[in-house]
Order: sequence, then structure tokens, then C-alpha cells
Amino acid sequence: MRKERRPSRTREHARLLEAASRIRVPEATDVCIVGGGAAGLVAAIVAAENGSRVVTLDADLECGRTILATGNGRCNFTNVGLDSARYNQPEFVRNVVGQSWLGDVLAFFHDCGLAWEEEAEGRVYPLSRQAASVRSVLLGRATRAGVILAPARSVRSVRQADGGFEVAYEEAFDAQTRRVLQSRTVVMAVGGGTDLCENIGLPMTPYLPVLCPLGCEGPLLAELDGRRVRVEARLIRAGVEVLSERGEVLFRRYGLSGIVVFNLSRYARPGDELVLDLLPTMKLAEAHELGLHTLDGLLDPVIAQALTKLEGSWEGALTRTKALTYRIIGPADTAHAQVSRGGLDVRTFNPATLEAQSKPGLFACGEALDVDGPCGGFNLAWAWKSGMVAGAAAAKETSR
Ligand SMILES: Cc1cc2nc3c(=O)[nH]c(=O)nc-3n(C[C@H](O)[C@H](O)[C@H](O)COP(=O)(O)OP(=O)(O)OC[C@H]3O[C@@H](n4cnc5c(N)ncnc54)[C@H](O)[C@@H]3O)c2cc1C
Repeated sequence: MRKERRPSRTREHARLLEAASRIRVPEATDVCIVGGGAAGLVAAIVAAENGSRVVTLDADLECGRTILATGNGRCNFTNVGLDSARYNQPEFVRNVVGQSWLGDVLAFFHDCGLAWEEEAEGRVYPLSRQAASVRSVLLGRATRAGVILAPARSVRSVRQADGGFEVAYEEAFDAQTRRVLQSRTVVMAVGGGTDLCENIGLPMTPYLPVLCPLGCEGPLLAELDGRRVRVEARLIRAGVEVLSERGEVLFRRYGLSGIVVFNLSRYARPGDELVLDLLPTMKLAEAHELGLHTLDGLLDPVIAQALTKLEGSWEGALTRTKALTYRIIGPADTAHAQVSRGGLDVRTFNPATLEAQSKPGLFACGEALDVDGPCGGFNLAWAWKSGMVAGAAAAKETSR
């Protein structure tokens, strides 16, 4: 039997470009969504379902591709413990999300036809455990609502013009021609770390990668590279504890990674200390009562033996398990950071509508705004809900 051959990357790229080139973008619309990622797709759906003509321009070859990488391909799309206090801009987030944030997100996805399940720590995943399910139901609902999804179009500038905005963009399949879309309103949903937001003349806070590993100096990093251990990690600044969290840490040659470290990276500063308790559920005295001869029965033997070698005895190693200390150099492997802090300054946006106070008709949502939360579904939950708010407000504006 002949095996089905998967198309090569080059052929797939050409196919997607060709498909994108067949999509006709009109010269004028009511709502232009800049960026068809998580927040942009929801904003587009809500605006279209409220009666607006909507065009979504995305630089990527398909809309919604950023969703595919989330939750290791499983998309941890929200958390049952949503709480504005866990974000860097708690008051702004509280004023945007309203009283029934989780209910609104789940109702939205229910109406998309998505089923889900809750896992540990309140993390919610699609029942299929496939991020592709989340993306697919969003694209389907957007298409049914009449949204024109126009990938392979990079927006270069957004300028105020008579009766709205001029959105200039380039097509990946025809880089020679710069096209312009006239739109009565614009929703900026470009995610984090892009310079487009800077160019539209709104105040920005500088970008900083967060939810990423930390470069550290300290014992055994090379020896334990790739080992995982459940710990309590305490972030210490000038001798005072800033924060602590329990969970898994991954040793890397350059420092520490894992969800606990990602979360602490939102608060860590160079020079801070990260103190790991490798036996968070056991007191030292309890360990001594076990009649130990080595630590192999308590810890991953590779870690136990490395610690014993470092300390010269298993007793010394046991004491060290309670405070394995690292000095933080700074964020590491930032190309793979899950979120960037910074972006459009939230003080210049109306939280009820996500409209820029100085540019009526211009809205923003998702990571384009300076909002970030911890791992666990909090960042996507913000993207969905802020997309709903911005999309509804943009549609209302165009119905006047
Ligand atoms: C590896 C990884 C895993 C993650 N896992 C999770 C998770 O499990 N749970 C969770 O809650 N969060 C997770 N996150 C974070 C989450 O993905 C983001 O918070 C969320 O995608 C932000 O949504 P957004 O729409 O603001 O931006 P994005 O989803 O990044 O979308 C921005 C879109 O704008 C487009 N764009 C950018 N510039 C332009 C331009 N000039 N013109 C046109 N289009 C443009 C991009 O192509 C993109 O499609 C993860 C992030 C990463 C990187």
C-alpha cells in the first residue's frame, strides 16, 4: 500500500499563500481588526454578530495560528479561578472583565460548539486536548458571522482620516503594492512585542519578556540539566521574600525553567535570589526519622547523588535540599517567552469599551495592551474577554 505523503513545507507555504491571495479585501469596512490571533478573532466575531462589516488582517499565512502553540498544543484556554488580582494591572482588568468573566468566556465557547474539561489547578482544556479544536471553532464561527479573514497581510500603519482610519497593509504574495483599507473603526489585536502600536502615536510601556525561564548562577546547573523536580520556590529580594510558589522546576544549563519559574519571572529582577526547597512536603526532622543512608529514596537519584557529591555527605545534602539557592541574572530563552509585558498604556484606554481616549474609534485588546497574567489559562482568558469588549464597542460605534 502506498503511504500518503505529507506536503513539503515549501509546497504548504505556497498553497497557503495562494489561498490567501484569493481572498478579496474590500476598500472600505466598518471594523478593521488588526491581528487575527486569539483576541482579534473573538473581537471580529462579536463585532460581526452585532451587525458590523468586519475585515481581519493578519500578517501570518493563516488566522489563529498563535493559538496552536498554546498549552503545549493542548490550549489551556481559561482557568476556573480567574481573578483580576493575578494580573499586572489588577484594577484595569477588573473594570474591563466585569462580574461574570469565566461565565462569559465559557458561554462564548459553548456557542462556538466547543466542549471542555477542567484539570488540576483549575486549568480548562478543550475536551479533545487539541488547540486546533479551539482555533477551528473560532474560524468557523467567524466565517459564519461574515467576517472577512484576510491572512498574509501585514499592517504597516494606522492613520486617522476623515470619518475613520486608513489602514495601510502589504500582501505577502504581492509585496510591491501597498494597499489601503478605509475603516470607520480599528481594533488593535496585534499581540505583544510589535512596533506597530508605537507608530500609531499612543503612549506605550516598554516591552519585557515574561513567563520565561530565568538565567541563574548557582550549584549543579550543568549536572542537572534536563531534570525536573517538584519544589517550593521562593523569590527573595534583599533578604525579604517577594513571592513563593509550589510546582515543577526544570534545571537548565543556563538557569531554571518550568511553570513555577515562568510565574516568578513576572516579578524577578536581576540580583534577586531563587531559593528551592526540594522536599516541600517534608520537614527535615521527619526525613531524619526515616533512618536514611542516602537520599535516593526521597529525591530523583540523579539529583540526590549530585547534591551528596556537592556537600560531601548525605546529611549535608539533606540540609541543602531545603535551600538550594540561585542568583538571578535575568530572563532567558526569551524567544520562547509566553507573554510580553508592556504595550499600549492601559491608563489611556476606557476600560468599559477599550477605546483609546485620545483616538475615538480606535480600540485595543489582548496582549497589545500592557496586561499579563500567570500561566494556567489566564492570558488567553484576558485575550478572549478583552476581545469581546472591544468587538462589541467597535460595533456599537459603527451603528451610530
Ligand atoms: C508557546 C506559548 C504557549 C502559550 N500557552 C498558553 C496557554 O496554554 N494558556 C494561556 O492562557 N496563554 C498561553 N500563552 C499566551 C497566549 O498565547 C497569549 O496571551 C495570547 O495568544 C494573546 O492573544 P492576542 O490575540 O493578544 O495575541 P496573538 O494571539 O499573539 O495574536 C496576534 C496576531 O496579530 C498578528 N499580527 C502581529 N502584527 C501584525 C501586523 N503588523 N499586521 C497584521 N497582523 C499582525 C499575528 O500574526 C497574530 O496572529 C502561550 C503563549 C506561547 C507563546
